[in-house]
Amino acid sequence: MTLPFCNVALPVPLRTTFTYAVPESLQGTVQPGSRVLVPFRKKAMVGVVVELTESAPPETKIREISRVLDFVPALPPKLIELAHWVAGYYLAPIGEVFRAMLPPVTELKSQRQIVLTEAGPEAAGSLSGGELSHGLTVEEAAFLEKLKEKKGTMLLGPAAKLGVDAASLQRLQRRGLIEVRENIQTKKRKTQRVIAWKGSLVHSEPAKPLAVREEKIRTLLETQRGPLPVAQLLKLANVTRSMIDRMLRDEMLESWEEPIDPAEDPFDVGYSPPAHELNAEQESALKAIRARFELGEFGVQLLHGVTGSGKTEVYLRAVQETLARGKTALVLVPEIALTLWIGRQCRSWFGAKFEGVAVLHSALSDVERAREWRRVRNGEARVVVGTRSAVFAPLENVGLIIIDEEQENSFKQEETPRYHGRDVAIVRAKMEGALALLGSATPSMETYHHAREGKYELLMLASRVAERSLASVEIVNLREDFQQTHKTSPISATLHAGIQECLANGTQALVLINRRGYSWSVLCRSCGASVQCVNCSISMTHHKQRNRLECHYCGSIQQIPKVCPKCQSKYVYFFGEGSEHLEERLRKEFPGARIARLDRDTARTKRQYQEMLGAFAGGALDVLVGTQMLAKGHDFQRVTLVGVVSADSSLSMPDFRAAERTFQLLTQVAGRAGRGDLKGRVLIQTFYPEHYAIQDAVKQDYSAFFERELHFRRMMAYPPFTALANVIVRDTNLEKAIRWSRQLSEYFSPHDDKGVRILGPATAPLARLKKEHRFQFLLKSPKRSVLTKLLGGAMAYCEAKDIPETAVLVDVDPVNLL
Ligand SMILES: [Zn+2]
Ligand SMILES: [Zn+2]
Repeated sequence: MTLPFCNVALPVPLRTTFTYAVPESLQGTVQPGSRVLVPFRKKAMVGVVVELTESAPPETKIREISRVLDFVPALPPKLIELAHWVAGYYLAPIGEVFRAMLPPVTELKSQRQIVLTEAGPEAAGSLSGGELSHGLTVEEAAFLEKLKEKKGTMLLGPAAKLGVDAASLQRLQRRGLIEVRENIQTKKRKTQRVIAWKGSLVHSEPAKPLAVREEKIRTLLETQRGPLPVAQLLKLANVTRSMIDRMLRDEMLESWEEPIDPAEDPFDVGYSPPAHELNAEQESALKAIRARFELGEFGVQLLHGVTGSGKTEVYLRAVQETLARGKTALVLVPEIALTLWIGRQCRSWFGAKFEGVAVLHSALSDVERAREWRRVRNGEARVVVGTRSAVFAPLENVGLIIIDEEQENSFKQEETPRYHGRDVAIVRAKMEGALALLGSATPSMETYHHAREGKYELLMLASRVAERSLASVEIVNLREDFQQTHKTSPISATLHAGIQECLANGTQALVLINRRGYSWSVLCRSCGASVQCVNCSISMTHHKQRNRLECHYCGSIQQIPKVCPKCQSKYVYFFGEGSEHLEERLRKEFPGARIARLDRDTARTKRQYQEMLGAFAGGALDVLVGTQMLAKGHDFQRVTLVGVVSADSSLSMPDFRAAERTFQLLTQVAGRAGRGDLKGRVLIQTFYPEHYAIQDAVKQDYSAFFERELHFRRMMAYPPFTALANVIVRDTNLEKAIRWSRQLSEYFSPHDDKGVRILGPATAPLARLKKEHRFQFLLKSPKRSVLTKLLGGAMAYCEAKDIPETAVLVDVDPVNLL
């Protein structure tokens, strides 16, 4: 039966769907998950059909769908189910959730092709046998016969030409007799040739010893970088193209074509490629993963491995096992550079001809993203590697979802829908009956708590590969340093000596400071006023080279004041060192050293960023100063010293996760030292060496930190012991913001202490941001369902009181309370 109406979710900030009539000509082609073009107010808009209905709400003027954009619904049923979960859990408008799931709407020229499935020919044969099987009509059976004659494929054309109508095609498709595929016709994709070491795949010893340059190529491709585009390989190995061609002919190397990715990073010093042999710990982790697959049901495993312990090997094997079982796999990583790298590892591991890998990230153009998305939807790609939003990749029959570095904040989307990629991934795995594999060196409190409670299975990798030892970590007590030297310098005597030693030995040092700019506060000594941004309640940062003050939240700029804006005194001074200051200081202290700074100011373009990392990796620099950009991922072989200028600045953030973040950052940074054959040393400067986050990071003792932090969370009733929601009421007009937060307070207050603790309304820690005044409610409940219900009620209340939806920001499970 065809239903005459459908409910459509539109990408507008409203929590409702809209009813449209399905015109006769489109009946049978509209399905849940189909994208449709509909009139909305005075515009045409693309929405997603949520459901078909028999009736429309009375007394409203029902308009008609103008066009159906997909023959095969864009979203498979499991994703529609997931969208409803996301909308309900995060209180997000359903249309916005679908928008996050769908590829960008671009004009891809496509051709629709009807393909006979394996079950098709038998059904086609039923016509000649006299009896119609499968409950087919005569026309349908005739159509199948015709399709069979045309070698199983036909272009989708008008009903008159095919002999069957759209509804019949849908029926045949539902019975699994035909498939309709959408083939994108675009200009041929630009591709590049990628070279890999073939020995790594066949495990055989070369018959004769390698020549020097051959050995260099092997080292690059097998142990330092992994497969490389040919241009990069030629440059790095300093060999000729003809040598590569010869080695390809001799089957020492292999190669394949792959699409050029705009985010490709030719200087990416990246990550050590996974070895093809597993050590005992990796083997036992894989055994546990296999056992999960055998069960064939939903489960969550946490792979807790110290930095450099070889989690990637385990991931790739798990993907391999998944594919072997005829299922698909999704790999989520925290940053774009990793998508490319892991994508390439997959191609090299699963055979050079393996094209079934799709890479999804935000740096792709709309057309590229739409094309990759379509490849996944058509079942051409069976492995998807991507960043946060790839959790919505339209894979079917998912067997494995990997979330690498699950503790990373980049998995949390900080705009509507405010979902957490890791948590959505787990829910998706549950819906698909798949395994969710979380990996981390420093698991989030929530995740590790679940593992300890037995909700997740814990797999451990406790040692580094190749028996490399972890770097030694030492504390530099800045209070003592000051007592001895009576100087306030961001570089303590110990750190100075350490850098000196690196310079003498010809090794390299990384120095981390987590503020950029020259100084991050401008104060008046007379009246104590600080110079704040005109749009935000935040101190302006002094940038010396650019000779101005900048707001790091909204980007506004001010002249450097000569006198205090408040009391006109001349005693304006700059306070708090940033990266620019530190660089200047290092140049002064080490005049002969080659020093560079890496932060968002020096690496404004991707190219600058790449060049600087490339220069450092290539040995053209001795010391690299920078912000957290330095802490991530990179494998610098010659770094023997990592200095952290101030461990306290992240500890003093007004956020209950401050200790957790500090511990994670310090552990991650410590992991940067001693990656090669040289032993590493880490110096952490702090005024509060007693703090457990610092003490435990020094010992690199995750479980000790976890115990103490858990105790704090329990005492303060924070996650993982409570469900938390942050509600911000905001407007550029202060009176409105106050009025609405009072109104909302009237709704909340009768519920306080009835299963939910409601704090606020209070001025938000960032009281003003981008010209908006902000008030904050913090809701805590030991029971998730109570919290969700109350928030749902609040949304309905706002609607009834005409408080605009955009004025109330709801953040469920916030990772950032500012
Ligand atoms: Zn003043
Ligand atoms: Zn600002």
